[in-house]
Amino acid sequence: MSENVLPHHHNDDERAEHLREQLDKTDNFQIVAEVFKQLSDYSRLRIFWLLCHCEECVTNISALVNMTSPAVSHHLSRLKANNLIVSSRRGKEVYYKAADTEQSNMLHLAIEKVMEISCPE
Ligand SMILES: [Zn+2]
Repeated sequence: MSENVLPHHHNDDERAEHLREQLDKTDNFQIVAEVFKQLSDYSRLRIFWLLCHCEECVTNISALVNMTSPAVSHHLSRLKANNLIVSSRRGKEVYYKAADTEQSNMLHLAIEKVMEISCPE
């Protein structure tokens, strides 16, 4: 049995030890913080949410969110760097959509839960 984990004894130490094991994996928390940081900008959130529901090129995304193409491009590159969206080139056009990952799906759901809207599909 290991030594007492916490200075005060309110709960069982085994549980505290288990929690601390997870808390000590700071890299994991940094990854989550980085993902949430990407979504701390409401414009980026709007673009991400849009791309959860359609695949579009920069020009159309810009029109939909009412922003300039360079501003949209900047947000797209940040979202892509964090693996929240993917892109594919077809002819001259590059199309963007949300990545089909558990992380991306979870954020999609989280956004709609917080906004208290149902998914327009
Ligand atoms: Zn949705």
